Amino acid sequence: MNEYDSQKMVDLLSVSHGLALTQDEKQADLLLLNTCSIREKAQEKLFHQLGRWKKYKTNNPNTVIAVGGCVASQEGAAILKRAPFVDIIFGPQTLHRLPNMLKNVLDKNNTQNKAIDVSFPEIEKFDHLATPKPNGISAFVSIMEGCSKYCSFCVVPYTRGEEVSRPLADILTEIQSLTDQGVREVNLLGQNVNAYQGKLEEDGFADLAFLIEIIAQMPDIYRIRYTTSHPVEFSDSLIEAYATTKKLVNHLHLPIQSGSDKILSMMKRGHTALEYKSKIRQLRKIRPNISLSSDFIIGFPNETDQDFADTMKLINDIGFDRSFSFIYSRRPGTPAADMIDDVTQQTKKDRLATLQTTINNSTNAISKSMLNTAQSVLVEAKSNYGNTLSGRTENNRVVHFAGAERLIGKLIDINITKVGANSLTGVVI
Ligand code: SAH
Repeated sequence: MNEYDSQKMVDLLSVSHGLALTQDEKQADLLLLNTCSIREKAQEKLFHQLGRWKKYKTNNPNTVIAVGGCVASQEGAAILKRAPFVDIIFGPQTLHRLPNMLKNVLDKNNTQNKAIDVSFPEIEKFDHLATPKPNGISAFVSIMEGCSKYCSFCVVPYTRGEEVSRPLADILTEIQSLTDQGVREVNLLGQNVNAYQGKLEEDGFADLAFLIEIIAQMPDIYRIRYTTSHPVEFSDSLIEAYATTKKLVNHLHLPIQSGSDKILSMMKRGHTALEYKSKIRQLRKIRPNISLSSDFIIGFPNETDQDFADTMKLINDIGFDRSFSFIYSRRPGTPAADMIDDVTQQTKKDRLATLQTTINNSTNAISKSMLNTAQSVLVEAKSNYGNTLSGRTENNRVVHFAGAERLIGKLIDINITKVGANSLTGVVI
């Protein structure tokens, strides 16, 4: 989501101020940080980075420094206490106002030359974004934002606000513009993407399954992905979409966080481990080979050896292909922040290592099982290795192979001839 937001900022500023992206800090007229606050580390990183940037402002007072994203949303003007040289502070929901904020800051007649706006003007943002400019075959499309789940560990409802969905027609217009520019795969984005409830032009609302079915009818879209979903809204209609919609890839990222019912309840996840497993069982009836990935939080307050064993059991029962797993990070303002964190740092590290070793083994085993099989690959680009092309399988593995450049943007079958640690090699069938 932050990558998507950053691209939107670049597009907006290129239209409003003719700015172009540079990776060279010394050249920049505007230094812009887009921040994340899902875990604590990000906050400290922000101030370290601002400390490093201060010199550009000292050397050239016309340099503008801006901070956006969820740390900005959480801290607002308080950022100025530690970094008074920052000019612009904006949140994820006010990024569309960035051109105006920059204009105000650059205005020499404006004596109050700071611009701070971390409000939540709901969906207004999407009406003010520049035409999307994709940089490749696959593109992100934000379909909803925010979250109303209030899991006890999570800061998202406070930084991005509650769930807001974009109207269905707006999303289709954006995707049409992307396919006109060569995009063939969309990754539908939302903090809680399967809670999507998009207004229809006629009466009523579309759910995620309906949206996917409509997108699948666009002939230039070959593949549809979505991220990130929540188990409670992993509905029957969405499961059914895997039966009716071939373009919906054979991969699902469905975070569970823990395999212990006690911890799931303390996290306020709203479901048990068995309920999660039962949804996966239903899905596997339709797509027996579907690749599954998940998120895990390790060392949540009160997590005992037994709770962790329950998580490992669930992992072994399901056989995840991949995971995003992190040690629990206490976020101020969330309900869990008041719980006593009674698991030692060493225990947390040991448990995380156990979990990651298990899932890495599973990733490698699944990669190996792909040797000498035919895989559907969406060709994305020329690869950095020699004179070859690269693309992705449905389960998100990068494949390198020899082929003509005209294959870029095509969906082709590749026979996998070699399995490496980070990518596969194959030949066009
Ligand atoms: N809305 C989805 C996915 C959210 S993605 C869901 O709730 O399932 C954000 C991921 O960051 C979460 O799945 C979680 O694993 C991780 N995360 C969020 N808050 C965290 C915290 N306080 N400490 C550690 N990890 C956290």
